[in-house]
Amino acid sequence: MSSPLPNYEEAAAVVAACAAQVGRTRPVVERVELGRAPGRVLARPLCADRDQPPFTRSTRDGFACRAIEASAHVPLAIAGSTRAGDAPAGPLPIGSAWEIMTGAPVPPDADAVMMLEHVEVAKGQVRLPPPCKVDEGENIVAQGAQARKGDELLPEGTLISSAQIALAAACGYGALEVYRRPRVAILTTGDELVPIKSTPGPGQIRNSNGPMLAAMVVAAGGEPWVLPTASDNPQALDTALAQAAGADLLLITGGVSAGKFDLVEPALARAGARFHFTGVRIQPGKPLVFGELALRSNADSRTPGAAHTLPFFGLPGNPVSSAVTFQLFAAPVLAAMTGSHAHGPRFALARLAPGTDKHGKADLTRFLPASCTFGPAGELPEVALVPWQGSGDLAAMARANCFLVLPEDARHLAAGAIVRILLPC
Ligand code: AMP
Ligand code: MG
Repeated sequence: MSSPLPNYEEAAAVVAACAAQVGRTRPVVERVELGRAPGRVLARPLCADRDQPPFTRSTRDGFACRAIEASAHVPLAIAGSTRAGDAPAGPLPIGSAWEIMTGAPVPPDADAVMMLEHVEVAKGQVRLPPPCKVDEGENIVAQGAQARKGDELLPEGTLISSAQIALAAACGYGALEVYRRPRVAILTTGDELVPIKSTPGPGQIRNSNGPMLAAMVVAAGGEPWVLPTASDNPQALDTALAQAAGADLLLITGGVSAGKFDLVEPALARAGARFHFTGVRIQPGKPLVFGELALRSNADSRTPGAAHTLPFFGLPGNPVSSAVTFQLFAAPVLAAMTGSHAHGPRFALARLAPGTDKHGKADLTRFLPASCTFGPAGELPEVALVPWQGSGDLAAMARANCFLVLPEDARHLAAGAIVRILLPC
């Protein structure tokens, strides 16, 4: 008798262990211009080229002062003026204040900045009227308060987006050392598939999984390598699998169910695959296959010349099944290959919308196309199911922005229940 299929958590644990193993090999490093760095992963720590801020700066337009003098509400002589971009000036004479703009260097001996909106200015003097007070350090950020020259600001393995780009720019990095993107072979299979621009004949459909998975691979930090669609016969599949040997990760769609023409698993077995699991108790996506191929060639793009294995996922062909299983299982392995420290699928909590009433299925964790809307701050997002006609319903998936998770033991989920949702990568 065959062993029972793993449930979602068990299969996810197998994948996480593989991701951890994969993550121990650091990818090849390359240099990219800053403008091309979003979505890439830092291969070296990002360090401060000088103190941050590089001088004690004012965070407001107003008057630099000694807090104790200003809070006594006496008129202070305006001793000078500094605008953003001016070199540091001063020092600040006793009994005086210094006009200052946001981002300008604060003169030595000043310990606070009175906001322009709070003061009275007349006859070359400025006064902070009662009951206003200003505390030492108020509206000032001291030189080096954020970082000292040479400090590590971001560790290796950080995923780069706009905030990291801004920090790199502030530190003078015109280019960054990043990890090479993992090359992900995408092999679609099925005699019924025709390319996008073809007019499908009777019984044929366009290949939508290829472009979809290519987009998902890009979003997850990989470089898609779309192979020609293989037809449902052993020779074609053997040839296609041999072709994929140069990839870091292989995604196959279709041909993993129990049908007469589901020939992918035997083809993988002929290629010497070691299977980690062949099926998971989830819906959609139950026929998912995960394993690795031992490669004799030296075509590995990460460590040329080294013996290595090629992890693969056999994703069920139905588009929603392919999308869900990619997000749940393939994306974490791909993330580990990018050198990023963040691997797992992204789950969040949400509240079930009014009018929703759902039963779970025994022994299956379900992932249903759903639409999540974000309400006022402090409230959970609200999630509603998108009506669908099963795992081939591309239109429903395209109208959804997440998947609602129905745990395998969920008897009945009513409106208002707090539920888990799976967010895209
Ligand atoms: P399979 O997993 O091969 O049994 O396919 C399941 C369903 O998904 C069938 O209706 C296929 O026509 C469909 N399908 C398989 N591959 C693709 C693809 N690349 N694009 C769109 N639909 C597909
Ligand atoms: Mg098929």
